[in-house]
Amino acid sequence: MFCNDTLMMNKYILKKSTYIESENCDDRSPDIIVDTIIIHCISLPEKEYDNDYVISFFTNKLNFNAHESFTDLEDLKVSSHLFIRRSGEVIQFVPFNKKAWHAGKSRYKERENFNEFSIGIELEGSVDDVYTDNQYDRLKIVIQELKELYPSIQDSNILRHSDIAPDRKNDPGEHFSLDRIK
Ligand SMILES: [Zn+2]
Repeated sequence: MFCNDTLMMNKYILKKSTYIESENCDDRSPDIIVDTIIIHCISLPEKEYDNDYVISFFTNKLNFNAHESFTDLEDLKVSSHLFIRRSGEVIQFVPFNKKAWHAGKSRYKERENFNEFSIGIELEGSVDDVYTDNQYDRLKIVIQELKELYPSIQDSNILRHSDIAPDRKNDPGEHFSLDRIK
């Protein structure tokens, strides 16, 4: 069964986005309050932006022979709620009321398993590159929309993947400015 199996979920899909369904998601527990946003970055291959490999990866359609670096990804099933491209275009893979598979093993300030109560946003990018103005502009708007949907989201709960999994992850990297989106 896919994530958008009922029309009831429309409020959990951004209006100005392209929706491409990913199976890589779960139901959230009924008592969960979504109050956190996790910012990531991804590009496939690393630092190459002019292709749709990330979309293929998040929808389990990536041809792992297309690039030598993709063999590392072969057994991974991941997703994010949103992917913001260099142009600012937004692609949504998972409705916000479902868990996307973006955070992995995670811990920050006595909380664990951030997929349970967070929205995952991937910026098309690399820890080595600056993000585009279009990405910051769009991210700011998206965060505002998410705060309206989930009023428990506070600026202090907008975190980087590197905050919640510092031993494993360094994204979105030093070039990402949290100040520009708050
Ligand atoms: Zn990440």
